Formats: sequence, structure tokens, C-alpha cells
Amino acid sequence: MTSERFDAVIVGAGFGGIGAAIQLKRLGYDNFVILEREDDLGGTWHVNRYPGLAVDIPSTTYSYWFEPNPNWSRLFAPGPELKRYADDVADKYDVRRHMRFSTAVEGARWDEELGLWQVALAGGQTLSAQFLITATGFLSQPYTPDIPGIATFNGRTIHTTDWDATYDFDGRRVGLIGTGATAVQLVPELAKRVAELTVYQRTAIYVVPKVDFRIPGLLQRAFARVPLVHRTFRYVTDNVLELMLISAVLHYRQFRRLNIAAADLSKIHRFVSIRDKELRQKLTPDYDFGCKRPTFSNTYYRTFTKPNVHLETTGIERIEPDGIVTADGNKRQIDTLVLATGFDLWDANFPAIEVVGREGRNLGKWWRENRFQAYQGVSIPYFPNFLSLAGPYSYSGLSYFDTIEREMRLMDRLFREVQRRRASTFEVTEEANTRFLDRMTELLDDSVFYGGSCATSRSYYFNHSGEATLLRPTSTHNAIEEASTFPLSDYQIA
Ligand SMILES: Cc1cc2nc3c(=O)[nH]c(=O)nc-3n(C[C@H](O)[C@H](O)[C@H](O)COP(=O)(O)OP(=O)(O)OC[C@H]3O[C@@H](n4cnc5c(N)ncnc54)[C@H](O)[C@@H]3O)c2cc1C
Repeated sequence: MTSERFDAVIVGAGFGGIGAAIQLKRLGYDNFVILEREDDLGGTWHVNRYPGLAVDIPSTTYSYWFEPNPNWSRLFAPGPELKRYADDVADKYDVRRHMRFSTAVEGARWDEELGLWQVALAGGQTLSAQFLITATGFLSQPYTPDIPGIATFNGRTIHTTDWDATYDFDGRRVGLIGTGATAVQLVPELAKRVAELTVYQRTAIYVVPKVDFRIPGLLQRAFARVPLVHRTFRYVTDNVLELMLISAVLHYRQFRRLNIAAADLSKIHRFVSIRDKELRQKLTPDYDFGCKRPTFSNTYYRTFTKPNVHLETTGIERIEPDGIVTADGNKRQIDTLVLATGFDLWDANFPAIEVVGREGRNLGKWWRENRFQAYQGVSIPYFPNFLSLAGPYSYSGLSYFDTIEREMRLMDRLFREVQRRRASTFEVTEEANTRFLDRMTELLDDSVFYGGSCATSRSYYFNHSGEATLLRPTSTHNAIEEASTFPLSDYQIA
């Protein structure tokens, strides 16, 4: 039974959902709701609160282009500043009042007769809306490994997405599982406090030095008073990142030497940080740079030389109430288990809710049976009036804000045309979708994902079929331009 009717429902109140809401307002919509299962906005930056959390993209680039923040305290701002920025933007653009927190969405179904999406909430309520926009992010469904015995552990278990700031780590014997981007930030911080820290590594990660510094007050004031200074600074950070992505990752076949140079930088970093050859060897990745998202830290490698920090590379066999047993039969006693095991992308997040389009097409099932695909990263045939902001090939550029703002541009072009024609639905054509997928597939062939050696990287860029269907393999410039110029005939607008 439908209780409320909206022009649009947005799922997710992270930077993606906030951006989509701002765009809807610019288009003249006010009757929309943002549904968020957490109790506050900010997505990634609300949920993650572990010590050491910071952006791994210069903050001048990791922000909305239309809302520069002159107050970042560092080039790589700490996590809480991002949460504050999300709050400030939501308030300034008056989108907070559209948000409903502690509201989990279970699924959405296109009602062909009514020409509306029926959105089902946990608890049984249903909302209806003309447009459905999922902004559920990629890294939003925490992953807990299914290690035998994990539930029997008697000490404290903490996932990094559910950090307990009141828990006293002083003097603890901690086992930390995972060596991804989160661990690179967290391990040096935990090592300062705990008695013993054992890091269980399955896949070594590339870490390169972090050129980070405090942004002096003088520069902050210059950013605030002379926007051109801020824009110029951003221009530099944008383009350095873009160059890294395009050359070392996307055009690996043409610029292999640059990719090797990046791997060498990480090698030198290990050499300077660690004297012990065996330890260095254990921390050396056996896949090409860029297969996984690269990380930046000046302290991660060095932390493993501390007497209270141990690196364990033998696989975990089981967890017992008081410790972790590895495949070689050794047991290490711990009282605290930290899971830096990241997120489930391909099982839980594509899509994050069940979405059923025209003629009963189930998006998750269809993607798995027909390859992951979405025109311009957002539109799928048989799913009218639907944009999946975290779709296959949607992530362009190294800063996620490139993705969000590109999608806002696409919304602008598409919704204005719908309004101009006084139409009520849009749907991407099968021909346009196939053309886009073929182009992405061909372009990916030049990338490190297919040209390099990524088999052992266990990277979330790859889905279960081994296809790298997350990143859009074009320049950010190309992606942004296409969002404003794509042929309107790629959509059926009626
Ligand atoms: C620790 C960490 C550090 C990161 N650092 C960077 C960085 O430096 N640079 C960068 O570019 N990217 C970084 N990222 C990626 C980051 O996720 C994106 O930059 C960006 O914040 C994504 O915004 P979003 O709104 O699309 O998704 P999210 O921020 O993930 O928000 C999605 C929201 O959807 C909600 N949601 C999901 N499912 C449902 C449901 N069924 N019902 C209701 N609500 C739901 C979630 O609760 C969440 O609030 C980082 C990610 C993590 C986890």
C-alpha cells in the first residue's frame, strides 16, 4: 500500500547522494527524499572513524568543484574534516531537510502501469517516486571474513567501519586482519598504543611516500579571499593525479616505464624504511602497480620494524576463543581482533538494493548473467527513470568527486530534456548501452588491469568473472565532456 509519493527518491546520504540532491534542486525539484540507513549523513566519512583516517587524494581535489573549502588543515585532510565538510555542504544547499535517517531501503520495483518506482523500506513501508537514484557508494557494505571460529572469539572484535572510540587499546594484544588502504592508515596509529600488534597479511600492498603538510593559515586565507589561488592549487593537484591515472594505470601498454617507476618508488620507500631484507620481501607486492588502488604513507612500512609489531604472512586456519592459529599450526594469543577487511563490492553492492525494472528484469541477476554494464556508468536498459550512481564504469578519475560532479552534469542534461519535452520517462537504448560497453571493453585492453600482471592482487577493481568493470578507462576530461554532450537520442524520452 503506497503511503507517500515523491518526484524522486535518492538512496544514500554520502557525497554522492548530497550531490544528486543539489542537482535536483537546481533542476527545480523539491519534492524528493534521501533515504539513509545510518543515523547521520556523510556516508564513508560518517561510518569510518578509525584512528589515522584521512583522504588519500589531496583535499583541494577531493571536494566539490562548486564548493571549494579553504579551511582544510592539511593537504591530505583527516576524516573528521570531511564529515564536517559534508555537513556544511548539506546545510548550505538545504538538502538535510530532505533526509530520512535510520531508514534502510530493501528494494525498488518499476510499476509499469503507474510509471512509478515503488521503493520498499525495511519495516514494510513503501514509497513511490517518478525517479530513483541510488547513491549507495562502492565501499559501503562492510566485509567480515568467514574464518572458521571467528564467532567463538572471546575478546573484543572491532570492524574498522564500526570503530569504538571508547575502547581502551593501551596494553592490548591485538590481531589485525587485512592490509588494504584502511590498514595502511590504521596500523601506525594502533602500534603506538598496544602492547603487541600482529598484522595478518594475505596480499602485500604498494605504499608510496605521502607528500603531506599542514596548510598554513596564510594560504587558507589566500584560498578564501582569492578564489583564483585556490583554483590554481586545485588545478595542479587535479592534473598530477590525472597524469598518474592515465599514464601508469589506463595506458599501461604505452607508458609501462612510468608504471615501473611508480613501483620502484615504493621499492625505494621499503628500502629506506626497513633494513631487514626478509621483512622487506614479505611486504613486496607480486603484482603490478595500479592493479589495486595505490596508497600513501610515510609510516606504514617503518611501523613493522617496531619490536611490538609483527607481520604474519602464513594464512589463518582458524580463530579460537583466545587467539589466531595459522596454517603452520602456530597460535598467537590475542585479546582484541581488528577487522580491516574492507568492503564487499561485487556480491553486496552491485546493486546494493534489489532493483527490478521493466518486464521484471532484476538488475543484480541481469548483470551477473550478461556482464556488468551501465551506459555512462549510470543507465541500464529496461530500467526507466533510474540512475545508479555507483554503477559499472562510473568511477572516473582518482578523486570520487570527479565521478559525482560528472554525474550531476549528466543529470542536468538528461532531466532538462525530459522537462523540455514535458515527458515523464527516460530510458537508455540498448544500442547506446552496447556501444558504450564495447568501447569501455576495448579501452580497458590498454590498462594495467589487462595488460599488466594483476592475477594475485585480489583487487576490488575486478569482479568475480575477472573483468575490471569498476573504473571508467577514459580521461576525466573525456568523461566530463561526454556527460554534457552525449547524444540525447541515446535515451528514449517519452
Ligand atoms: C576509509 C575510506 C577512505 C576513502 N578515501 C577516499 C579518498 O581519499 N578519495 C576518494 O576518491 N575516495 C575515497 N574513498 C571512497 C569513498 O567511498 C568515496 O570517495 C565517496 O565518499 C563515496 O560517496 P558515496 O556517497 O557515493 O558513497 P558512500 O559515502 O559510501 O555513501 C553511501 C551511503 O549509502 C547508504 N546506503 C547503502 N545502502 C543503503 C540502503 N540499502 N538503504 C539506505 N542507505 C543505504 C550508506 O549507509 C552510505 O551512507 C574512501 C572510502 C573509504 C571507505
